[in-house]
Amino acid sequence: MPELPEVETLKRDLKKVKGKKIKSVKVNWPKMVLPLTVKSFTQNLKGQKILNIKRRAKVLIFELSNERYLMVHLKMTGQLIFDPKKGKMVVGGHPQKGGTQDLPNKYTHVIINFTDGTTLYFNDLRKFGWMRLVNKDYVDELSNGLGVEPLTKSFTFDNFTNFVKRFPNRRVKQFLLDQTIIAGLGNIYVDESCYGAKIKPTRRVGSLTKKETKDLFKCIPEVLKLSIANKGTSFSNYIQLDGKEGRMIKFLKVYNKKGQKCQRCGAEIKKIKLNGRGTHFCAKCQK
Ligand SMILES: [Zn+2]
Repeated sequence: MPELPEVETLKRDLKKVKGKKIKSVKVNWPKMVLPLTVKSFTQNLKGQKILNIKRRAKVLIFELSNERYLMVHLKMTGQLIFDPKKGKMVVGGHPQKGGTQDLPNKYTHVIINFTDGTTLYFNDLRKFGWMRLVNKDYVDELSNGLGVEPLTKSFTFDNFTNFVKRFPNRRVKQFLLDQTIIAGLGNIYVDESCYGAKIKPTRRVGSLTKKETKDLFKCIPEVLKLSIANKGTSFSNYIQLDGKEGRMIKFLKVYNKKGQKCQRCGAEIKKIKLNGRGTHFCAKCQK
């Protein structure tokens, strides 16, 4: 699932969509645009200009000229592809084999055509992703239900410590995955942050020392920034059509490294299931 760095990367890559006017919209999978009907969704988008593109947690928010907002959640396998007609396509989200070939293809569920002949495709293999056309209140409501953005000034050691105190019995992994505490972290970056802080993801939050809490607090934005600088993580068996593979994969220390040697201590990286999620760590140097 695309996490904060991948969605942030996509948001930045999609800045060329800003200012474009929507000519027409086609929906091949009506469930994806619920609760609106296809007719209402397409009619309300037609003629609108994209004023801005923002991100909140893992959600992309396109601000439209009619004071409405198109929210996009890629979920497990969603992918946005912008075809500029000339030049490189922008591809973001979950890379999938054949996803960018012969567009629109069998994975394409929503097509947004702009007046200048360019196109935005929403592809999704498993169809858990969604597009919602909403008003400002809805965006605010969604935002209020989400936790702090870890790359903003609101993410302070004080508020992080307060959360730690509030949920002492949770395991670190479960605590960091909770979107109502810190927004945007998923499996990859939680495992990597725990490795960076030398903390086992299975630990109870209440057992962290002040130093460990501080280390963890520092590692989260560090890992996310490193990933954004490398355009996120994508796995090499899915080469994207534009050849732009997320390079963060080269910097991962534990995620997807089961059986490999820890770069820090040489012990073997373990993988366990924790609350149903694959969890990677070094049993020796993560305490
Ligand atoms: Zn180690």
